[in-house]
Amino acid sequence: MKHKEQRAHRTDTGSPRGGPTDLRDLPLERLAEFVAGLGLPGKRAKQIFARLYRPGVFAFSQLGISREVTALLAQDAAMSSLFPVTVEKSADTTEKFAFRLEDGAMIESVLIPEDGRHTLCVSSQAGCAMGCGFCLTGGLGFVRNLRPAEIVGQVLAVMTHMVACGIERATPRELLNNLVFMGMGEPLANYDNLLTALSILMDDHGLGFSERRITVSTCGIVPRMDDLGRDIRVNLAVSLHSADDAVRSSLMPVNRTHGLEALLAACRRYPLGKKKVILFEYIMLKGINDSLADAHLLAEKLQGIPSRINLLPYNGSGDTEFSCPDGAQTLAFQKVLREAGFNTFIRQSRGADISAACGQLAGKG
Ligand code: SF4
Repeated sequence: MKHKEQRAHRTDTGSPRGGPTDLRDLPLERLAEFVAGLGLPGKRAKQIFARLYRPGVFAFSQLGISREVTALLAQDAAMSSLFPVTVEKSADTTEKFAFRLEDGAMIESVLIPEDGRHTLCVSSQAGCAMGCGFCLTGGLGFVRNLRPAEIVGQVLAVMTHMVACGIERATPRELLNNLVFMGMGEPLANYDNLLTALSILMDDHGLGFSERRITVSTCGIVPRMDDLGRDIRVNLAVSLHSADDAVRSSLMPVNRTHGLEALLAACRRYPLGKKKVILFEYIMLKGINDSLADAHLLAEKLQGIPSRINLLPYNGSGDTEFSCPDGAQTLAFQKVLREAGFNTFIRQSRGADISAACGQLAGKG
């Protein structure tokens, strides 16, 4: 694996469901233990692992292994798959996938095509406990953490869909250029399962996503940001949304526990590779965080942090207390940041017409 710093971490993979071990919950080293426990030679683990993560594989019989081994696995193990219950396509070609999990919980993933490249926005929890005021997922409340297999399963299900739609690439990995953990849930609140899912996705024996192509977004769970920086190499995104402590606390309850100063200190010590930056996401909310004074404050607070800032015009429905500033205000806000030396982009909403844009995922299925 490329991320050598990864500490030994154990996920409760056995079976939170009380059934057989789901092989798609296991990173390679745990799969090797499991396979050894069945009395099979070690090389079998790599072979099984590689085949488990091919799109379109839903059953042991599709793994291309001998009947004896298939029968052995079937006695003690399962391999779960996700199948979308709906796939909605936006006018801008963004696609939203809704999945019903085995206990009925709903999650969503969003596929964003752009210039021949594809980014998949992955969910890490059903619902979310963080309660950010501008976010529909937050309004749902927390349902449960996703297992590693349910996180990786979103990637496999979307790849399977892409292949069925005639998208061809030399290897499955090349179907998706980027994975961003910005869907439903706070990834760092499901830390161990996130880490296991990342290690599965990044393992060269399987899909082999490189660290450059994975971004984990957090609302600011500071201790877990330190853990992430120590345990694995991935890109970090921070949902910032205000550089003023009081305003941020009113928008994002997490700020009452981990305030701006602590959050930005964690950003400063986050281990970034060469030429790497932290992505700061900033939803533009009219009259709340969109003044030029807010832009100057943001520039001041981010001084010294290698940064890229994405300004996201608010795209919620009309029945909330929030609205979007006009385009001129957003441009003026961007100008302040650019003049202060920050790479700042205005990100147009993708998939707003199918409720697939940032903050709109509500798992309705
Ligand atoms: S913005 Fe992210 S962390 Fe906040 S409530 Fe929504 S899903 Fe949760």
